[in-house]
Amino acid sequence: MRGGVRVTEKKKNLEAELIVIGGGGAGLAAAIAAAEGGCTSIIVLEKTGNATGSTGMAHDIFGAESPVQKRLGIDASRDKLFKTAMEWAHWTRINPRIVRAFIDKSGDTIGWLEKKGLSFELIQYYPNQVPLVRHSILGHGHALMKTLRDNCRDLGVSIFTHTAAKKLLRDVNGSINGVIAESKEGKITIMAKSVIVASGGYGNNKEMLKESCPYYHENITYDGPPGNTGDGITMAKEIGASISGMGAFNLHGPYIKRRSSADYMNLDTTDLDGKPLRLSLWFLAWEPQTMWVNKYGRRYVDEGYNLAFFAFGNTVALQPEGISYTLFDNKTLQIIEKEGFIRPGAASKANWLPIGAATPVPGLEREVKLKEDTGYLKISDSWDEIAEWMDAESAVLKASVNEYNTACDNRHDSLFAKDAKYLLSLKNPPFYAIRGHIALCDAYGGITINENMEALDIQDKIIPGLYAAGSTTGCWESESYCYHLTGHLVGFALNSGRIAGENAVKYISKNNNK
Ligand SMILES: Cc1cc2nc3c(=O)[nH]c(=O)nc-3n(C[C@H](O)[C@H](O)[C@H](O)COP(=O)(O)OP(=O)(O)OC[C@H]3O[C@@H](n4cnc5c(N)ncnc54)[C@H](O)[C@@H]3O)c2cc1C
Repeated sequence: MRGGVRVTEKKKNLEAELIVIGGGGAGLAAAIAAAEGGCTSIIVLEKTGNATGSTGMAHDIFGAESPVQKRLGIDASRDKLFKTAMEWAHWTRINPRIVRAFIDKSGDTIGWLEKKGLSFELIQYYPNQVPLVRHSILGHGHALMKTLRDNCRDLGVSIFTHTAAKKLLRDVNGSINGVIAESKEGKITIMAKSVIVASGGYGNNKEMLKESCPYYHENITYDGPPGNTGDGITMAKEIGASISGMGAFNLHGPYIKRRSSADYMNLDTTDLDGKPLRLSLWFLAWEPQTMWVNKYGRRYVDEGYNLAFFAFGNTVALQPEGISYTLFDNKTLQIIEKEGFIRPGAASKANWLPIGAATPVPGLEREVKLKEDTGYLKISDSWDEIAEWMDAESAVLKASVNEYNTACDNRHDSLFAKDAKYLLSLKNPPFYAIRGHIALCDAYGGITINENMEALDIQDKIIPGLYAAGSTTGCWESESYCYHLTGHLVGFALNSGRIAGENAVKYISKNNNK
């Protein structure tokens, strides 16, 4: 026996009470919840070499009425946040009971994680965000996943890495009773009383993206880990599960294309050719005092309408080829160097450039000028030259810049009504153009579940023994990320995982007692 797991024949045929597919946030939360609920033999199957998933790359987690908020006297009412989520979705495409279940659980989950040793800092995602729901994890997703892995070990949960689930098994009565998986050693059949699918989204599956995303194009950079190819959705579909809510995306931009998703965590990230590409370009590309045009040189958005970069994701995605150019002049660059970036960053803690108004960025101008050879930046005194670099028509670009400069002079943007405080003209050469792209954090939707995280078939009937959690499931968010509930993707993963684990234990013990 290994952690309560019965190994019958050289790890080819195994038995456990519960199998969890996917060792990310939802999967490990589910396994821990099940172990805490009394389940003694749990196997987590993880396709890659490390149980971390995209959760390990994240920074924050949503919580409502959490102990952290209560200690600080913050009113983050579950009712109000539920209404915010539903209004964002126009009460369509999503199941309000699932949304309610995860929001209701979210405060308790923060306390659950605190007891396991994690700490949180409440921070704003965009200026004046109320209430504060973004629980920034000290040590980020890395610390979160290490804590969950350690907890699994302490609770006797077996995590099999490099082991991909391939097929769900059903008994003669239609109940789920096992999984066929593949490891380096070959095929494994694992029999179990219940299975939780927590295999993450399908951001790394181009076919699924193309099918579900009307504006898919090759320029979308996927930020997440390689294993997230929608396997759980495919396996569940094969056994008759209902699939719904596909095409929900967490897009952001404009964004500097990176060499690989792993680069996301590095301060001195590199470009596609491996050249250093510090975050200064990336942050500048988001700044509201700059002007944004598409590949034709046409301005397409109020650059300051919301300082949350997810707010712009959909707009950038709709531009031809998902390309956006951020334009500014040398005076604006010097202002930012002196006064700091305005847009809040993805993280508040050390090892990121200082973010926020009135935090100077010494050396920014010098540093930016060193970036020209990265291929993402053009510096020139001539808009004609910049237009050529962009492959845009010079007349179109110059007309856009003139129109913008007029808006700055008049202190009124008659096109997109941008807040006048962000209107800085582009008149002092050299001029700068940064090429940005659209990026995808996660693509979710998939297995239809109810509020107990039970998987449903195409007749909306519960598939006995099958649960699903996290980004492999559908109908808890409309097509775009509701950033007012900042951190709710990790929030949904962990809360739906816990709910799935708790209910799987009840199902197992009910069937054990039959
Ligand atoms: C760079 C980045 C930053 C982010 N930052 C945030 C943030 O700060 N806050 C936030 O809320 N959200 C954030 N997100 C989104 C969030 O991380 C995810 O939506 C969420 O963590 C998904 O959790 P999950 O458990 O469903 O999937 P994951 O954590 O991705 O786990 C799924 C796991 O299943 C495994 N798997 C897949 N197929 C199989 C198979 N066949 N067999 C076995 N295992 C399999 C995968 O390898 C993976 O380890 C971020 C995403 C990225 C990429």
